[in-house]
Amino acid sequence: MSALVGFDLDRTLVYSAAALLLDGPDESAPALVVTEVYQHAPLSYMTRVAETALAGLASRATVVPVTTRTVAQYRRIRLPLPTEGWAVTTNGAVLLHDDRPDDAWTASLRAEIDATSAPLAAAEELFLAQLPTAALLRNHRAEDLFVYAVVDRAALPDDALADLAAALGALGWTVSLQGRKLYAVPVAIRKERALAAVAERVGATLTVAAGDSLLDRDMLAAADVAIRPAHGELHAAGWTAPNLLVTQASGVMAGQEIIELAARAVDGAR
Ligand SMILES: [Mg+2]
Repeated sequence: MSALVGFDLDRTLVYSAAALLLDGPDESAPALVVTEVYQHAPLSYMTRVAETALAGLASRATVVPVTTRTVAQYRRIRLPLPTEGWAVTTNGAVLLHDDRPDDAWTASLRAEIDATSAPLAAAEELFLAQLPTAALLRNHRAEDLFVYAVVDRAALPDDALADLAAALGALGWTVSLQGRKLYAVPVAIRKERALAAVAERVGATLTVAAGDSLLDRDMLAAADVAIRPAHGELHAAGWTAPNLLVTQASGVMAGQEIIELAARAVDGAR
């Protein structure tokens, strides 16, 4: 049996200070390790127990980070994984093996994006036009493939978000809100396709996937065992599926529980 475990990163494995959702007294808080440094300061964390459990899991399964982060943003992340391995970044548009991008993968996707979605410039223009001005703090392009904005959630009502998603949807683009980041991504760029490509290359017979957002949904649906935390976009939507496990905890403690549930699924199948 060869097990593959695909983990979304932000708010699934790693948590910013704002996403920790620690409750209870500070003296009862779990020990945390820094998983990311940005501009010389810590930016994201996991529990020490989670880090140890992840290292153990990686010794008996192929563990693949599957993230919407760009390659540069992904390279800031420090996880106890083998230096030679697989990662999916840029929401599935980039496949890294031993830290080298598979250029053929990205090139074949670009052709499909051109066939199924409006061009980046047109989608970006609509995205910025539809976003309430007060909600837009900063906007970015990710590797000339998709766009995202840092938003003020309080200035972005749910109906404005739904209108934006509908408008972009008509252009072949998917909209996802994750914390303060609002993404618009061509429909052809999908995490589950990249993870399936890794599964094929490593000959996986069991796939476990975990994630918290709309951009993770189809990856969870396609997995043999899916896990999501009790927080985030999918949780808010009450999303469920027959193969789905949901954590008891939320925040960084859910991250720890996700690794433990994934390890149980892998060990149960051995
Ligand atoms: Mg996430």
